[in-house]
Amino acid sequence: MSDIRHDWTKEEILEIYNRPLIDLIYEAAKVHRQHHDPKEVQVSTLLSIKTGGCPEDCAYCPQAARYHTDIEKNDLMSVAQVRKAAEEAKAAGSSRLCMGAAWRNVRDNDEFDQVLDMVKTVYDLDMEVCCTLGMVTENQAKRLAAAGLYAYNHNIDSSEEYYKEIISTRGWEDRMETLGNVRKAKLTVCSGGIIGMGEKAEDRCGMLLALSNLNPHPESVPINGLVSVEGTPLEDQEVVPIWDMVRMIATTRIVLPETTVRLSAGRTQMTDEGQALCFLAGAGSIFAGDKLLTTPNPEFNKDMALFQALGLNPQAPYKKGGKPTVDEEAYKTRPENGEKIKWSRPGHTIEKNVAASEKAKTPSA
Ligand code: SF4
Repeated sequence: MSDIRHDWTKEEILEIYNRPLIDLIYEAAKVHRQHHDPKEVQVSTLLSIKTGGCPEDCAYCPQAARYHTDIEKNDLMSVAQVRKAAEEAKAAGSSRLCMGAAWRNVRDNDEFDQVLDMVKTVYDLDMEVCCTLGMVTENQAKRLAAAGLYAYNHNIDSSEEYYKEIISTRGWEDRMETLGNVRKAKLTVCSGGIIGMGEKAEDRCGMLLALSNLNPHPESVPINGLVSVEGTPLEDQEVVPIWDMVRMIATTRIVLPETTVRLSAGRTQMTDEGQALCFLAGAGSIFAGDKLLTTPNPEFNKDMALFQALGLNPQAPYKKGGKPTVDEEAYKTRPENGEKIKWSRPGHTIEKNVAASEKAKTPSA
């Protein structure tokens, strides 16, 4: 078994990242086979339960209210709508439903109570339940856990240094604190990032360094290829080369041997052969369904045809961890005074974000 390490240096990770690709894939495939069943791929469905109108300024995101994109905004879904979507996802072969809301952070209000009911509803369908709702306090994370949540996603996006070039409305430290709160609630952690935003190899490796410093390592690390959307500050970014994607997946695999590496956004920009290389290099999960929150994703049947061609099988739910126990009273009890929310707003200037916001205000935009 490879050692599970929390003391990687950025230089070591860069050395791995820069190896000849053919050697890198071979090494990553060996690590993958030592720690995972290489024929199993965990299939998740990502459902946007509240779309658009977000107050943050994440440069890659079409859901930020300040940019002009043509996504359809939606208020919070009903529990019945979520149940229907979960049943469809399960029937199509997904073992996990990941529910995303375009919020800065969770608040102790009626909408959060509704999300907790959604979590319990999907849990009752015997699916793994994941949420991505922005920053959470320890008590909020514990209520999610009591409702049957399995995983909480909160991406760190890039290295600490490059993060500041992408987002000015919420701080890196708050991201890390949220991940700590998720851990305190004994939820599994899903955290990764995006490549193709203009960052350097050092930033990609800096992100992996930050994730590898977490102890324990996140159970899941999504690696997204930027899908550039018109109207966002990153609208002109070119599609990330497949070789970079494979290199990033392989490096993640070696640095975080027990983690499930998720081949996430950007798959429509990849060929079947490119995706096959990612699976060989250690990707152990995909998001299925024709949409990833707001950006396109391959159709389910296309994914299953690829699985068949490669000899891959969808993984059963709770294969890598036990089913959580629900505590109805704990999840239904809203804290009387709420917790003091103290999330920061760094507020530095990111020129491209400001320019995209200004452009969105002009009538011709
Ligand atoms: S990534 Fe999340 S927090 Fe950032 S703008 Fe989009 S929805 Fe809001």
